[in-house]
This record gives sequence, C-alpha cells and structure tokens, in this order.
Amino acid sequence: MRMAPGVLREALVDVDAIAENVRHLRRLTGAEIIAVVKADGYGHGAHRAAVAALRGGAARIGVSDIDEALALRRQGVRAPLFAWLHAPGASFAEAVHHDVELGISDLDQLLRAGAAAEGDRPAAVHLKLETGLSRNGIAPADWAQVFSEAARMQRIGRVRVVGLFSHLSNTSLDDDRAALARFEEGVVLAAANGLNPPLRHIAATHAAIALPEARLGCVRIGIGLYGVSPFDDRSAADLGLRPAMTLRGSVAAVRRVPAGTGVSYGYDYRTEVDTTLALIPLGYADGVPRHASGRGPVSINGRRFTVAGRIAMDQFVVDVGDHPVAVGDEAVLFGDPTLGVPSARDWADAADTIDYEIVTRVGARVPRREGGS
Ligand SMILES: *Cc1c(COP(=O)(O)O)cnc(C)c1O
Repeated sequence: MRMAPGVLREALVDVDAIAENVRHLRRLTGAEIIAVVKADGYGHGAHRAAVAALRGGAARIGVSDIDEALALRRQGVRAPLFAWLHAPGASFAEAVHHDVELGISDLDQLLRAGAAAEGDRPAAVHLKLETGLSRNGIAPADWAQVFSEAARMQRIGRVRVVGLFSHLSNTSLDDDRAALARFEEGVVLAAANGLNPPLRHIAATHAAIALPEARLGCVRIGIGLYGVSPFDDRSAADLGLRPAMTLRGSVAAVRRVPAGTGVSYGYDYRTEVDTTLALIPLGYADGVPRHASGRGPVSINGRRFTVAGRIAMDQFVVDVGDHPVAVGDEAVLFGDPTLGVPSARDWADAADTIDYEIVTRVGARVPRREGGS
C-alpha cells in the first residue's frame, strides 16, 4: 500500500471501532458504561473517543483530572462527566460550574466540594473508597465520618452523592474479590449513614470482563474502548474487541547496501549480506519506544520486518532484504492484527511494557486522522 503524498506519519483512529467496542461491552456486561478518555483518550484523542463512546451507548465519561473534563466541556461534550484525581488545593468551583462530577478521596475534598456548590446547584460527587490499591480513596477508618458528613451536606443541598466507587489491583481474581468485599462493606456503611447513591462502580475493563460480580450495574471502561486487551493471555480478538489505532509511516528513503554495513547510531546492527534498508520516519519522539530497538515489528507490503539497530528520535531503519520496497510505501507499526499487521501488544512485548503505554504515548507530533485501516 502507498501512503498519501506528503504524509510522513499518522495515527489512524477508527471511531467506529470505539463505538462498536462500547456496544459489545454493554451487551457483554449488561452494565452502564463510564467511558474513560483520560490522557487524551489513551492517545486516540479525548474528544473523538468521548463522542464515539457516547454514540456506542456510554452513559458517562470519565477522565483523570478536572482540566481534562473542562476541555471536553469546551469542546461541546454535554454528557455526565467525572474526574477523580485532583491537585492539592484544586479549586472545585469551576468543575461544579461546568457540571463536572468530582471523585472525592478524603474529608477535606468533600468539604471543598460542598463549598463550591453554586446557588441551588450542589456539587455532584462520587465517593472513592480505598479497598486495597493503596492509591487515593477514603481510608476505611474515615468512612463513617465522611459518609455522615456527606449525608449531612446532601440534606442541606451542598453535595449530591452520585456514586460510590473504588479501583481494583488486578493482582488476581481472589485479590479483586477481597477488594470487592471491602467495597461492599463500605456500601453497607454508607447506607447506614443514609447514603444510597444511584451508582456503584469498581470494575475497569479487566474486571468488567473477568469478574461478573464486580459489574455492579456500572463499569469504567478505558482500554477496552480502544480495542486493546488488558489480559496477558487473551487478545483483543479473543474478547470481541477491535483495535482502534493504526500507527503508520511512509517509507522515507530506500538504500541498497553491501554486506557489513553499519546501521543507525552505534552500529548495533550490521548487514550480513547485500541488502536493502528502508527508513521509517517514526522515532521515540513519536512514542516508538527506544527500548524496542532491534526488536520492534513493522509491516511493509504485507511482510513483517524488524527494526534494525537503534530507534532514533525521528526515525528508524529496517532491513528489508531483497523484498521490493519503495519510497512512499506504507509501513505499519501496529494496528488490527487480524488484518495481518503487528499489534500494540507486539510492540509492548518488544519494549518490555504493556500495550496501554504503547498507544497512550504516541507523540503529539503524530497527526491523528479518523478512518479505518
Ligand atoms: C484508568 C482508569 C480506569 C480505566 O481502566 P482500564 O483498565 O483502561 O479499563 C478506570 N478507573 C480508574 C480509576 C482509572 O484510573
């Protein structure tokens, strides 16, 4: 395949795949979907991911921080929006003003949310319970105090408690079941304090699929939206999900070289025979992990090659042997492996990381374009 003239590199984002992944996960879980589009939609573009997820039937959008939520509001997203990781001392007033729901991890945040209520508009909050991940979340010792204060503030119209939530460690199903049991204790204690919020949510993609009892009628789906599997031993296709991102570049130079030619910085790779080298214009500035030097896969004209030598900031080289490759041919780093190209998982394996990181770190220099591969 040929790339369009003038295109050096791009990430194709298949928004229909995102919508379809949401539909599939709704059917599979029977739960309401909070579509997580933090970190610029895991690199796919937060706004387009949110719009596609809502089209696929997501009920609510989740992001990490308030700035991400406000950006989506500015871009016209009207759906319920939820943000859970706050700067120390962050002002919640703007969030409340723009109808952004707040994850609350301690009494101080709850009080500040209440103080940010506007006229007859209470601050909408989801109380986050620490159940074993050891990140943020209300400590079990503080649950009773925070619940009773939240109930009091709800009675006087300062807050509206929309949900109780927590987050799992994915250590093992048994560890996740233990966290779920702690969460259920919190739900009971909240009810005893007069809090019966409409939503309870603890499962991200992994538990939403693997632990049905964790669905609780509402799940937070991040990586699954993008058609990437959170399981070590099950591919996206195994889960009925379709990868939404294809990262590709246009072969920028082709050179015939003799045996013994050193390739890229440090000559970590030397050609063994007369061969052809192709230059791919993506580098670590574009999120191609340098750690995958000598290992990452690339598909050109239906054939798979491996990065030769070091990945540089803007480019890397592949040794294509005697296969016909021309300037302007499409080089796919990853996409939907059912179409014969490498997957984000292949790159994750080559870089000793997880595919979450591969898609999320695609650099700002890479233009995103909506379209199927
Ligand atoms: C990122 C995140 C999610 C989504 O997790 P996935 O594994 O990508 O589905 C859900 N909940 C919280 C609190 C998160 O930080």
